[in-house]
Amino acid sequence: STGNGSYEPSQVKFPEIKFTKLFINGEFVDSLSGRTFETIDPRTGEAIAKIAEGDKEDVDLAVKAARKAFDHGPWPRFPGSERRRILLKFADLVNENAEELATLDAIDAGKLLHLMRIIDLPLAVDTIRYYAGAADKIHGETLKMSRELQSYTLHEPIGVVGHIIPWNFPSLMFAIKVGPALAAGCTMIVKPAEQTPLSALYYAHLAKLAGIPDGVLNVVPGFGPTAGAAISSHMDINMISFTGSTEIGRRIMQAAATSNLKPVCLELGGKSPLIIFNDADVDKAAEQALQGSFFNKALLKFFFFFGEICVAGCRVFAQDGIYDQFLLKLKEKAQNWVVGDPLDPNSHHGPQVDKRQYEKVLSHIEQGKKEGATLFYGGKPLDRKGYYIEPTIFIDVKDDMTIAQNEIFGPVMTVFKFKNVEEAIKRANETKYGLAAGIMTNDLNIANTVSRSIRAGAIWINCYFAFDADCPHGGYKMSGFGRDLGMDALKKYLQVKSVTTPIYNSPW
Ligand code: ADP
Repeated sequence: STGNGSYEPSQVKFPEIKFTKLFINGEFVDSLSGRTFETIDPRTGEAIAKIAEGDKEDVDLAVKAARKAFDHGPWPRFPGSERRRILLKFADLVNENAEELATLDAIDAGKLLHLMRIIDLPLAVDTIRYYAGAADKIHGETLKMSRELQSYTLHEPIGVVGHIIPWNFPSLMFAIKVGPALAAGCTMIVKPAEQTPLSALYYAHLAKLAGIPDGVLNVVPGFGPTAGAAISSHMDINMISFTGSTEIGRRIMQAAATSNLKPVCLELGGKSPLIIFNDADVDKAAEQALQGSFFNKALLKFFFFFGEICVAGCRVFAQDGIYDQFLLKLKEKAQNWVVGDPLDPNSHHGPQVDKRQYEKVLSHIEQGKKEGATLFYGGKPLDRKGYYIEPTIFIDVKDDMTIAQNEIFGPVMTVFKFKNVEEAIKRANETKYGLAAGIMTNDLNIANTVSRSIRAGAIWINCYFAFDADCPHGGYKMSGFGRDLGMDALKKYLQVKSVTTPIYNSPW
């Protein structure tokens, strides 16, 4: 059941850490160097466990296993229905172990446990089931080229995939990347973020239990410049699917280009606008701005803190007729905003994921003050152990200030005032990113006009941060290219082959 406020964080069982080694060719193994690194609990800054540290030679081993599983193993050769059966079993196991996976992410990433239970894990399970259902529906087309020639296309798995994933959605991102790649018949190596390796290793264990053959799914925790770079420059990996910062995305693309020209799909940073028009419900708008609350298909109300999400609506544009009221509401809601232990069901947001991120956010806040923006609310770290920061709101922000342009990945919002639709569109688009945008209005024409005009991969009208396994997600501009989720994501793990044959003396 979901959190109902009736228990204390201390009553949540701290999960036993069962898996700390690399998962290669179906076995948990030490790294070849024998090195380990500590994964840190952001609530305290203390180590949770020592994790085997993968490096180039471990990546080589994992890729060898994945290569063998692809070139000679059953996985890509199964009929789709067999992959579907195994993936459905995998999803069931993830579902059965959801509480443990959620708790692992809560302590490893500082993510709110009550939200993990109702959002991340159910969506992870659903995503794997969605792609299980797609596994036996992969097929090409028949083409009549002329009276004498006929072609058909084969949609073949692209081969060995390298997934490099970030720390903000450890469980969900794992399912989003691995689900469609497995359904397509690919084999793979996953490098979870160094901050959050725990749930990925647990997933590996469940994959084995589900019957995914050895070598198909390998998990190698390690650092970006070592294990990550070894993946992006590997000569025997056929494709990279990456989610992370724009800066690292560029490096991955360079490494791919200078090695074997493997295609890359990049889901990168954002600086998404949330545009609130005069006719919007001010209370809902403030809540949306602060929490990005949304209604999913089941009409459950979900909360999301603005901050450690790439689609955070951190540039909030409020029209001049609603601006003052909106700020008042925002302050009122910010005052009731609980920053606390991610295991506590009353928390609205937890700590930043690590010390580096924590310091980065604080320095962005200092920079905002220095550049002359007005600190309207918050701005300080919490006076307690761990990497906690108050929700922070800046006003009087100029469009070209650093806090208005750079991705902060923390609880920092900037609020701007605008006059009309044209101005909103123009300023909302004045960013190098194009991941998402939110629009708050009841005017259908404004909603539709702005939706068409914003150069971003996702538009949310009167909601924010609504996701579904069937709804493609990805960026425009420097937010990347390629899509996660939906059938679009399946396509990136497939390549198309045409097979042409002559037909002699056909009257048709
Ligand atoms: P964030 O800023 O959210 O930490 P990053 O882009 O730094 O995002 O990291 C996302 C993922 O990319 C992590 O798994 C990280 O280890 C990996 N990574 C970092 N640097 C590199 C690199 N040079 N090559 C490949 N992967 C990297």
